[in-house]
Amino acid sequence: CGIVGYVGHQVALDVVIAGLKRLEYRGYDSAGVAVVADGELAMDKRAGKLANLEKSLAEQPLPAGTTGIGHTRWATHGAPNDRNAHPHLDGPGRVAVVHNGIVENFVALRAELAERGVELRSETDTEVVVHLLSEALDAMEADGGARDLAEAMRRVCRRLEGAFTLVAADAAQPDVVVGARRNSPLVVGLGEGENFLASDVAAFIAHTRTALELGQDQVVELRRDGVTVTDFAGAPVETNEYRVDWDA
Ligand code: GLU
Repeated sequence: CGIVGYVGHQVALDVVIAGLKRLEYRGYDSAGVAVVADGELAMDKRAGKLANLEKSLAEQPLPAGTTGIGHTRWATHGAPNDRNAHPHLDGPGRVAVVHNGIVENFVALRAELAERGVELRSETDTEVVVHLLSEALDAMEADGGARDLAEAMRRVCRRLEGAFTLVAADAAQPDVVVGARRNSPLVVGLGEGENFLASDVAAFIAHTRTALELGQDQVVELRRDGVTVTDFAGAPVETNEYRVDWDA
């Protein structure tokens, strides 16, 4: 339902939680966050209001990384409980994904993953995405290359049907957040030494009013010092920055 991503110099968790609060008006049943700190991914997610998540985070704080993603869920597949809340992680807990929308072909993808011995831990349509990303990243390493989250996202998106805004992080690429969209909105907020992703500009308007809207079937790689946008095939695309001039 609500999605936030951040790479920069601030404590990512604070930026992400504040962003999710700005999206609360849309309604949701669960909330979760993941941050990358010291080359590791840390995650917390809870059914219920953001206050539940904040209480949990107060009891067991996450490390103060500067890369993070967050989600408020409006369940479509799988009950609104802690396990089905986003982010979803791959087996080793290195890759995290949040998702708005519906992956229409998730049943076939779940079956395919199960056949390869991948253990699924939720009832969501979303979880297939993180395992496919993880497999794509592992395949790059097995080929002697480096993990490239944006390229992995493009490969996975080409296999997905339906509507999705996806945002992902990888512990092995601590200064990168990747987003993708089809039939569901995703906006980039451009800051100074920091950049933002959100399903709605309201999430980052306190930090920057320079934005660019991702077009249909595009992937964005977000870094501290800039963003790169391509189509699902990897071809660079034109982007149009605009100024958000409404009062928030
Ligand atoms: N279909 C996903 C789920 O049920 C995402 C729902 C949403 O857009 O929040 O987990």
